[in-house]
Amino acid sequence: MQFKNSLAFAQQLDKEDPLHSYRSKFHFPKVKGNQVIYFTGNSLGLQPKRTQAYVEEVMTDWASLAVEGHFYADKPWWDYHERLAAPLATIVGAQTQEISVMNTLTVNLHLLMVSFYRPTTKRYKIICEEKAFPSDQYMLASQLRFHGLDPKDALVEVKKRPGENAWRTEDIVAAIDEVGDALALVLIGGVNYYNGQVFDMKTITAAGKKVGAYVGWDLAHAAGNVKLELHNWDVDFAAWCSYKYMNSGPGNASGLFVHEKHLNTKDIPRFEGWWGTKKETRFLMKPEFEPMENADAWQLSNAPILSVAPYLASLTLFDEVGMEALIQKRDTLVAYLEFVLHEIDKVVDASFEIITPKDRGCQLSVFLHGEGKSLFTYLMENGVITDWREPNVIRLAPAPFYCSFEDMYRFGQILKNGILNKNS
Ligand SMILES: *Cc1c(COP(=O)(O)O)cnc(C)c1O
Repeated sequence: MQFKNSLAFAQQLDKEDPLHSYRSKFHFPKVKGNQVIYFTGNSLGLQPKRTQAYVEEVMTDWASLAVEGHFYADKPWWDYHERLAAPLATIVGAQTQEISVMNTLTVNLHLLMVSFYRPTTKRYKIICEEKAFPSDQYMLASQLRFHGLDPKDALVEVKKRPGENAWRTEDIVAAIDEVGDALALVLIGGVNYYNGQVFDMKTITAAGKKVGAYVGWDLAHAAGNVKLELHNWDVDFAAWCSYKYMNSGPGNASGLFVHEKHLNTKDIPRFEGWWGTKKETRFLMKPEFEPMENADAWQLSNAPILSVAPYLASLTLFDEVGMEALIQKRDTLVAYLEFVLHEIDKVVDASFEIITPKDRGCQLSVFLHGEGKSLFTYLMENGVITDWREPNVIRLAPAPFYCSFEDMYRFGQILKNGILNKNS
């Protein structure tokens, strides 16, 4: 498609966009009385308007039914979280039984490592990407120390090549082959939070399995953003948070995936609690743990219903629209944003450098060479909610659920004015 950097053209794209009406199903913050241009759906997604009713339902049931709500609420609390498994399975390419919702992301990754990181003297190393998300770095290092290992020896961080902004799949596969039968686990962020790169999860998973390692993915920036086929790729486990592209609210519950072949296995170590035991006999309060036959075996506690309710609300939106339509809009929207950036670059004679590779989802990370934090402040004051990383990278993640083509055009104009004002 031949893009044009004009308001009329952007509005025409909005008119042709089958998802355009979904924008009105979300609450937008306002700056100076105007709805913001929201680029931080990769950090905290906007609130769907229907979410409040889901939360109020729980509050009302609690008020009117109290403990009886566990069994007699319209959506009884004791198995409330099970409602999320089927829609999530569709989003991440899994079977329903492979999905559970519990805790928060870092907690779930730790719990999954109890099952899938079992170092021996020979096979004990972990491969991850260099400069992984800080929580993942702390998690991996603390797991290694917990097992009496030294991260300097046991953690292999795959680097980007000098002068390059993205990882090469071949370098990750080469690292996996080199560590070989010393490799216990590959655990990488499926979409990198900094440069927005989508890793080749299929190829990397296959390479890890080939040398006999377990392979897990942190899908914080991937779930609800990119196409996933966790089951078919033979991924062992994965977890994601729900508050980024999944719009479920700050700090909200995490989803997890455990491959079918690890369900109902007797010898898998796991930290266990009463919500993981068979629900048919759970309330008999027996001393033996009889695991649920699905990924709920990893559940420890009864689910935090007030967290799960907004997640369920947001999943109904995904169910209506489907990942395919979201991805289709995403690609056009991000391509248009890229086009607008190039057009503005020509006018202001700056040098924007997009460091996100072609394997991308919603996010473009852009070096604004020669610009400083004052530009970021200008953008925020003019209603562009974005994210700044020192020295001068902005991350722009237009979520296809609620961002419009007109937003991209208007952003370009504000960016242009911010740079020209500074220079005048
Ligand atoms: C956002 C994010 C997290 C956040 O973890 P929480 O436990 O939900 O605070 C972890 N890992 C990655 C890669 C992230 O992008």
